[in-house]
Amino acid sequence: MRPESLEFLKTLVNTPSPSGHESRGQRVWLDYVTPFADETYWDAYGNCVAVKNKGGSPRVMLAAHADEIAMTVNFISEEGFIYVRRLGGVDAAITKAQRVCIHSKKGPVKGVVGNVAPHLTKSDGDHKAPKIHDLFIDIGVESRKEAEKLLRVGDPITLTDEFDLLRNDLAIARAFDNRIGTFAVAEAMRLLSGVKGLNAEVCAVSNIMEEVGLLGARQIAYSLNPGVALVVDVTHATDYPTVSKPQHGDIKIGGGPALTHGGCNHPGVVAQLEAVAKKENIKLQHEAMSSSSGTDTDVIFWTRGGIPSALISLPNRYMHSPVELVSLKDLLRIPQLMAAFCRSIKKGQEFKVHI
Ligand SMILES: [Zn+2]
Repeated sequence: MRPESLEFLKTLVNTPSPSGHESRGQRVWLDYVTPFADETYWDAYGNCVAVKNKGGSPRVMLAAHADEIAMTVNFISEEGFIYVRRLGGVDAAITKAQRVCIHSKKGPVKGVVGNVAPHLTKSDGDHKAPKIHDLFIDIGVESRKEAEKLLRVGDPITLTDEFDLLRNDLAIARAFDNRIGTFAVAEAMRLLSGVKGLNAEVCAVSNIMEEVGLLGARQIAYSLNPGVALVVDVTHATDYPTVSKPQHGDIKIGGGPALTHGGCNHPGVVAQLEAVAKKENIKLQHEAMSSSSGTDTDVIFWTRGGIPSALISLPNRYMHSPVELVSLKDLLRIPQLMAAFCRSIKKGQEFKVHI
């Protein structure tokens, strides 16, 4: 990977961006993408947009969510322990015994999620999976009063794990879901920055609050009203012990980006992506979906009269954990695919199913 791009990915992943509190991460994204765009802006709730070839037709939206799963301060006990609520699909079991940061207006507050020592737990039936409200954070204070001098109810909390490299171009981080997406749409803008003769107007979008209900994507899809939308997110790699391929499909780390078929994915957009990938020599994997994809694509495609959309996914092991694992080689292919798709768009092209 280009050193500047890798540095951007690291900074993006290491900048906490909890659902509903994305501003710091959005600033990193805007600063990187601005030189490659004709114009950038953000809306009321902080959905960020970078525009290229304004006035071109159709308008292509390249969207990815900027937020990450997190927790928020819900209650502070008399003794100064912090109890939490979830922001998105946090797994309480793996959150025990982790280091956390509470993002207070007064600055970051370090803490740990308490875990009862095995010596102190009874052996019979004490090992049920914890509920989120069972977790308590120890910030090293003696009372609620002391805690309230540092933070308040509603402050967001993230785990402190950061970007790291394993072998073979594999990387781990706390929030590849979905900084790899906002990274990919920004990189697509970079790849398009010198391109002449582009027909489409390209809008790269870093949208908010996906993990708590696909919320920012609804706002920005409605206001941008694009002619076609590509969404980038992570998908479950199924190439590790205990995961059933008959049940969850066959998706490998290192096998290339995955296209999803069915439902919200427009067959014409998917076909054009496959044709472009073939031309560019980009290896793809394939997934089937039933009623929903669990991504922003689900809400973008039904916006207004229906926006032709497609989901491009990066295989990810151990999703919603502090050690999400992806292949940087797979990741690089996604901006290449999106940029080539944008270049392939004909003037005024419309996507309609054949009947
Ligand atoms: Zn996601």
